[in-house]
Amino acid sequence: QSENATFPPELDANEKILVDSFDNTSISTWSYYYTHGGHVAGRNKSMAQWTADRWAEYGFTTRLDEYIVYLNYPVSHSLQLTYPNGSTWNATLKEAVLEEDPTTSYPNSIPTFHGYSWSGNASAEYIYVGRGQKVDFERLIALGVDLEGKIALAKYGGPFRGLKVKNAQDHGMVGVVIFSDPVDDGNMTEAKGVAAYPNGPARNPTTVQRGSVQFLSIYPGDPTTPGYTSKEGVPRADTSHSTPRIPSLPVSWLEGQPILQALNGFGTSGVEVNRTGWVGAIPDVQYNTGVGSGASLSLTNVMEDEITPIWDAIGIINGTNQDEVVIVGNHRDAWIIGGAADPNSGSSVLIEMAKAFHNLMETGWKPTRTIVFASWDAEEYGLVGSTEWMEEYIPWIKTAVVSYLNIDVAVSGPNPDFSATPDLHTIITDLMKKIVWPYHGTTNSTLFDVWTATSGEIGVLGSGSDYTSFLHRGIASIDMGSGGGPNDPVYPYHSNYDSYHWMATFGDPGFHTHKAIGQYLSLLLYHIVNDPVLPLEPATYVPELNKYLAALEEVIATANGTLDLSALTAAISTFETSAAQFTSLRDFAISSSNDDLITVQNHKARDFSRGFASQGGLPGREFFQHLIFAPGLDTGYAPVTFPGITEAITFDKNFTLAQEWVGRTAEAVLVAAGMLKT
Ligand code: GLU
Ligand code: CA
Ligand code: ZN
Ligand code: ZN
Repeated sequence: QSENATFPPELDANEKILVDSFDNTSISTWSYYYTHGGHVAGRNKSMAQWTADRWAEYGFTTRLDEYIVYLNYPVSHSLQLTYPNGSTWNATLKEAVLEEDPTTSYPNSIPTFHGYSWSGNASAEYIYVGRGQKVDFERLIALGVDLEGKIALAKYGGPFRGLKVKNAQDHGMVGVVIFSDPVDDGNMTEAKGVAAYPNGPARNPTTVQRGSVQFLSIYPGDPTTPGYTSKEGVPRADTSHSTPRIPSLPVSWLEGQPILQALNGFGTSGVEVNRTGWVGAIPDVQYNTGVGSGASLSLTNVMEDEITPIWDAIGIINGTNQDEVVIVGNHRDAWIIGGAADPNSGSSVLIEMAKAFHNLMETGWKPTRTIVFASWDAEEYGLVGSTEWMEEYIPWIKTAVVSYLNIDVAVSGPNPDFSATPDLHTIITDLMKKIVWPYHGTTNSTLFDVWTATSGEIGVLGSGSDYTSFLHRGIASIDMGSGGGPNDPVYPYHSNYDSYHWMATFGDPGFHTHKAIGQYLSLLLYHIVNDPVLPLEPATYVPELNKYLAALEEVIATANGTLDLSALTAAISTFETSAAQFTSLRDFAISSSNDDLITVQNHKARDFSRGFASQGGLPGREFFQHLIFAPGLDTGYAPVTFPGITEAITFDKNFTLAQEWVGRTAEAVLVAAGMLKT
């Protein structure tokens, strides 16, 4: 039952046109197109053109922006296990072809590999390193495990996979094998009696997670052009700091099983290692470190390097006021033929959304602010298309962009999931009440009801999708999608089984969740481009900054250190005062119908968060300029708040550096406060 005053929600005429334009059947048609052809980065120009053509039919001005970047593609690979008695076992490194799922047998399916992985061979004994985080390696060292010259066997999940490879390399290891584990599959496992795909919602045991192993904690984008755009003829940097120098391969849990089993009983057992996420759920595996097992691995990985074009499809509807721009972005490239969830659930939604805005424009409506749609290429290798584009247009982006709205995996399950900068929280939450959300076949709940019941929180942005470049230039940003809980079908992330068949059978039968999230994103875009008073609330940063401060105090206490935070607390209270003044001046502008003053306040709301982005960036990672939140150095995906200070403590264990970053972070908060004032 809805908690709203009205159900179904009340919509004004324009909102109703947008919402009523969405048709689940036509979204399924767009999805079918995207999920039946190869679209790995740099090899998908026809899909870029098709996307631009659909947007053009709906009245957008379109173009393809081309960048010339470094990518690599798989040529061949192998993995052999040698037991102490000399007998051997060879991994197939293949996902099973399924009769029920036609695209799993397409001849141009991409092998299971890691993007930006190093070509090479490694033959050595191997050690199980858990999730492969810095703390996992610290634990192994404390246990006296010798890592030098060995191959790392790591479990998927937790930190970004590229960091697992980086950590192994930094410890002198010579190769990495990363396996999936049903421990991450909630209650939907064969061990719990649930049938596996294609017969049921559990993970098919041969599922392999492809993915990039770029060291993305340093900078995203084309590894050969850090900080500048990748056009023909530009100088190209050496990639040894940003991509691995040891080979790596991903494997399924089924093929990880014998490799792990050969370590049973050798070295410290998984339970005794006692690190979060160390012990998984593969049958008959003890997750030992494997010291002295006498088993060895021999892996080969041959990649073809290319400096090659990629294409961002761009679609524009000019607003009447072109100094304010909203960008809606989704990546188009997928590792696989399918990509029904990642990223084409988002891509299909954007086509339908172009149609919705076309229908609205047919009534004579024009956006006040400019709308830019972007279909990014090469996100999967490391946010390449969006980062190069940002680097090309940065002066204009910093001047004009009001918000960046990201949709990547729009749908992989029924639970709405939102992360955003605090200034967007109010509008995000308000609009949830206007959408009917189809949760497990129900028809009487709003998005707000379901979100309140399943999450109730807007997350902090870390990294892992294309909002990163915009966020780190101080742009108000949101990333949205809908995922599965522990009792929902297991999403076959970066696998051949992320297919149209999986989506239509398990992920979102009938494409109703696709429709609902598209309706929601349309209302969000509509209000941000149309409302005379820009719906960004600087004051919402205040409670959030205070939460981050409390979290920081806990980090300091846990580390048994002391830090003088007075500069930061003073800066937050200055920000609070400025934000309150901003709000009251804006309220006055509204009540006195002073359009010029509204414009002045709108520009402040657009610009103030640039202040949080500091030119020099975070320590050792210039690219990441936002001093309030950043991807964790040890996580790659998950965010850290007040990252300069927090990571000086947790990552570098350096309180002097932390104290210096209290000052710099406070400075950034004061710059943002100042921009609200002037
Ligand atoms: N979303 C992609 C992944 O998780 C790319 C992430 C990145 O390079 O930031 O593999
Ligand atoms: Ca670049
Ligand atoms: Zn994606
Ligand atoms: Zn992906």
